[in-house]
Amino acid sequence: MEPSSSASGPAPAPSELDEALRVEFLSRYLLVEGIEKCPIPLFVIDHDHVITKWNEALAKLTGINSEVMIGTREHWKVFYPFARPTMADLTVEGTVETKIDHLYSGKYKRSALHEGGYELLDFFPHLGEDGRWVQFMAAPLRDPSGRVIGAIETLQDVTDRHRTESELQENQSFLRQIVDGSSVPTFVIDREHRVTHWNRACEIITGVLARDIVGTRNQWRPFYADERPVMADLILINAVEKDVDLFYHGKFRASQVLTGAFEAEDYFPHLGESGKWLFFTAAPLRDSAGQFVGAIETLQDITLQKQAELSLRASEEKFRIMSITDALTSLYNARYFHEQIEIEIRRAVRYRRPLSLLMIDIDNFKQLNDTHGHPEGDRALALVSAAIRQSCREVDTAYRYGGEEFTVILPETELELAARLAERLRQQVTATPLCTEDGTSIGLTASFGVAELRPGDTAESLLRRADEGVYAAKRRGKNCCVAV
Ligand code: GH3
Ligand code: MG
Ligand code: MG
Repeated sequence: MEPSSSASGPAPAPSELDEALRVEFLSRYLLVEGIEKCPIPLFVIDHDHVITKWNEALAKLTGINSEVMIGTREHWKVFYPFARPTMADLTVEGTVETKIDHLYSGKYKRSALHEGGYELLDFFPHLGEDGRWVQFMAAPLRDPSGRVIGAIETLQDVTDRHRTESELQENQSFLRQIVDGSSVPTFVIDREHRVTHWNRACEIITGVLARDIVGTRNQWRPFYADERPVMADLILINAVEKDVDLFYHGKFRASQVLTGAFEAEDYFPHLGESGKWLFFTAAPLRDSAGQFVGAIETLQDITLQKQAELSLRASEEKFRIMSITDALTSLYNARYFHEQIEIEIRRAVRYRRPLSLLMIDIDNFKQLNDTHGHPEGDRALALVSAAIRQSCREVDTAYRYGGEEFTVILPETELELAARLAERLRQQVTATPLCTEDGTSIGLTASFGVAELRPGDTAESLLRRADEGVYAAKRRGKNCCVAV
């Protein structure tokens, strides 16, 4: 290609330029077919700013053929509506450093690939239909002695990439606004499990500042004593329930609202002054192709609600116990006895196991009341109850059945053993005298009826037999046990 005749000044011979091109560039681009076939749009100007090369890729990008451009200085036309220096021109002039800021303020950087070269990204509204984003690089061409003999400028249409990047940036900034603007403690991790967002509410709940955690993989630190995955990490590795269970055993479930998300509640002893209960949800973040790009986790401080729940449960339990307990003796009450005897009979029948029942009636109790007063009678009831409870086995349950009458359910117990246990209880009662307020010691005794469940028995018939035992014991002179 011949430089334009309008070129002023001593243009280097084409062969000189070609030589430089070969040395400087062909080797770099490894283009077997040379610049013409180089897939990167590019042009070359000589030291006099005259176009000497305008390759096919550039013709395609600009819509202008090499025949029109070569030999002219009109390369600016492609990019700008008025004549102004391009990067290649500045490079040839050697005025890049002084002029570049003025012409391309904030858009350029030194080329990492080419010494003395510059790279820029700019939008050219006149290129293509709606303008194009072009990444261009200009580098000087030198002869073997190092003299600048021209410049090459490569232009890459990065409109699509730029659009994707700016969309991504826009998404990122959108996400940042959503996360930062939320009063719900929220953090986000990226594909590499690094924290990318940590909002103010999250700073407050964890006591860890965003600036100390964003960019790290320390998301576990505010929550756990040792390094381990948080829920968001598990989401990101596409953990299935089995894996999540390893870390949140019995505390998590798949989200009812979000697919692929999990939610859990747990107590974190290290959070806040005295620990916090958190309800947390982690959900995947995907790109438009459905690939994981990160995970978002939101936290909810449920400490107050949990405390209320726990104290409610505690008071419910307290009321439940109260409702089945006799206040005076602290034994179970009669209502609970009737419930339990039915249950125990059913169990004994179903598994063909033995079951026995004791009925206990304090002897001469009316007389004790009459002689020492009702309050002493009450103390005697409490004393006898304590003696019964003490002598019972773990599996036995004792009840205040009536005024001064008690029952004991003995599961897995045949009549003979039941009678022996009754005797032990009787001795314990006898060995526990009542010390009245005025210092008198009053011996207490009781009569025991013992009955074992028989085929066809109901709670009523079993009770009746135990009661017959008591009656028989009374007739035998009280303070004894009768098995029926
Ligand atoms: P026995 O040896 O034949 O059983 O004679 P007893 O006096 O024990 O029998 P009785 O059934 O005649 O009397 C039971 C007494 O228990 C009557 C009642 O005043 C008394 N009593 C029932 N409940 C309570 C209570 O909660 N406190 C007190 N102090 N006495 C009670
Ligand atoms: Mg009685
Ligand atoms: Mg009595």
